[in-house]
Amino acid sequence: FVCRNCEAPLACVSDVVSRAFQGKLGRVYLLQRMVNVQLGPREDRAMITGLHVVADLHCRSCETLLGWKYLEAFDVLEQRYKEGRFAIEK
Ligand SMILES: [Zn+2]
Repeated sequence: FVCRNCEAPLACVSDVVSRAFQGKLGRVYLLQRMVNVQLGPREDRAMITGLHVVADLHCRSCETLLGWKYLEAFDVLEQRYKEGRFAIEK
C-alpha cells in the first residue's frame, strides 16, 4: 500500500488483518503494521462497533489523512483484536 497523494510506502499486503470493514468513504482495511505514518492526538470516538480510543493517522511525508489507529476498544470484548492496529480507507 502507498499513500494516495505522495506514493510513500505504508504497508505490505501481508500486514492486512481484515478487509471486512465498511467506512463512510468506502472499504476499510485493518493492518497490523504501518510505516511512514504519524499519529494525531488521542481521542474517544463513538463508532458503529462501540466506543473506541483512536488517533488519526497521517502520512509522514505529505500529512494526508489516511485513516486512524485503534488504541483501545471499550465496550465489547470482541472488538479487542483491533487494539494497536491501523485502519486505512482505500
Ligand atoms: Zn503521502
